[in-house]
Amino acid sequence: MNASPAEPAFGPSPRHKSVAVEIGEGAAVVVGGGAPVVVQSMTNTDTADAEATARQIAALARAGSELVRLTVDRDEAAAAVPHIRDKLAAMGVSVPLIGDFHYIGHKLLAEHPACAEALDKYRINPGNVGFRNKRDLQFGQIVEIAVRNGKAVRIGANWGSLDQELLTHLMDENSVSAAPLGARAVTREALVRSALLSAGRAEEIGLPHARIVLSAKVSAVQDLITVYRMLAARSDYALHLGLTEAGMGSKGIVASSAALGVLLQEGIGDTIRISLTPEPGGDRTREVRVAQELLQTMGFRIFAPQVAACPGCGRTTSTVFQELARDIEAHLTASMPEWRALYPGVERLNVAVMGCIVNGPGESKHADIGISLPGTGETPAAPVFVDGVKTVTLRGPRIAEEFKTLVGDYIARRFGGVGRAAE
Ligand code: SF4
Repeated sequence: MNASPAEPAFGPSPRHKSVAVEIGEGAAVVVGGGAPVVVQSMTNTDTADAEATARQIAALARAGSELVRLTVDRDEAAAAVPHIRDKLAAMGVSVPLIGDFHYIGHKLLAEHPACAEALDKYRINPGNVGFRNKRDLQFGQIVEIAVRNGKAVRIGANWGSLDQELLTHLMDENSVSAAPLGARAVTREALVRSALLSAGRAEEIGLPHARIVLSAKVSAVQDLITVYRMLAARSDYALHLGLTEAGMGSKGIVASSAALGVLLQEGIGDTIRISLTPEPGGDRTREVRVAQELLQTMGFRIFAPQVAACPGCGRTTSTVFQELARDIEAHLTASMPEWRALYPGVERLNVAVMGCIVNGPGESKHADIGISLPGTGETPAAPVFVDGVKTVTLRGPRIAEEFKTLVGDYIARRFGGVGRAAE
C-alpha cells in the first residue's frame, strides 16, 4: 500500500547552511559548514590559577569537550593563559582554547601578546566592549588582533548585556511605526541586529567571514528559539547555541534540552554548550556529558554505549534491576577509554536492563544485548538476549557479574574482530 501523501515527514530538517570555521591548529575543530555539532564547555576556576585551570580544562577535554572557554578578566589571567597552554601540552591535551573577554579585552590582548597567540578563538560581547565613542574603537582593536594572529572570533550578544544604544534606537523607531511591536519582540530584534551588525563591522575591519561564529544568548526557552531562527534566516554564519543562566540540576538540563533540541531538530546550531550551575563542589564535566547525551539521544552524534533501563513499577519490589543498570552503566563508562582503542565502534553498543516480563524480553530483543530480570512473583530467572535471540538464562546471586562478563564477551566478539568472519 502506498504511503498517504498526508503522512508527516519525520527526522531533522536539513542543516542551516553555515560557513565552516576552523578553530585551532593542525587537526583543527571545524564548527559549521555541515560538520558534526561540536560540544564545548567553560571553566569556572580562576584563570590566574594556571595549575587549577589546566587541570579542569584537561578534565573537560577528557570528558569529551571539543572546545573549552576560559575567562580572561584581568592581567593575571591573561598572563596565565600561555602557561595553561604549556601545562596542557605536558599533559598531552591539545583542545582548542577560547578566551572570554569583557570590557577590557582590547587592552588585555594588546598588552599580553602571548595570551593572544596561545588562544585559538576570542569571544567578545558587543554589549560589553566599551561605551559610546570607545565602543567601536575597542571592538576594532580586538578584531585587528584576531586578524593579525589568524584567530576566530565569536561575537556573542547577550540579553543581559544588550547594546543599550541600539535597543533605545529600535524602541524609538518602533514607537512611531504604523504597526508597533511589543517590547519583547523589539528586544529580540535588537539582540539579533547587535550580533549581525557587529559581525559586519568585524568583516569591514578585515576579519574573514569564515572566522566568525555568532551567538545570541537569552535565558528563556521561547526567546532563544525565536532569536536563533531569526539569526539562521538572515545569515550563514556558524552558530553557537546555548541557553544562558539555564539553572541548577534538572531545571537547567530540561530548559537547555528543550530549547536546543527544537533548534537542532530544525537544523540550527553548529556548536553547543549546556550552561549548568554546578552544585557547590560539583563536577564541572557534567555539562559536557549532558551536551553529549542531548546530541546522542537525538541521533546526531554517537559518543558512548547506551543503557536502556525500564523505570521500574509495582511489579518489581526489589532494586536488583536498578542496581544492575547502574553497575552496567558505570562499568561501560569506566571501560570506555580502553575499549575505544581496542574496539572501534563500541560507542554504538546498546544494552537493555529490564525489570520484568511485561516489556523485558521485547525491549531486550531490540538491544544488542539485554537482560530481563524477574519481577515480583516470577520465576527467579533472567533470560539474556543477544542480537535479538535468547542465548542463556541466568540464575542465582551472581547475575550481575555474569551479565557483565557476557557484555564484555559480546563487545570483544563484535567490535574486536574476533569472530567477525562468522558474522
Ligand atoms: S518492564 Fe516490568 S518492571 Fe519495568 S516498568 Fe515495565 S512493567 Fe514495570
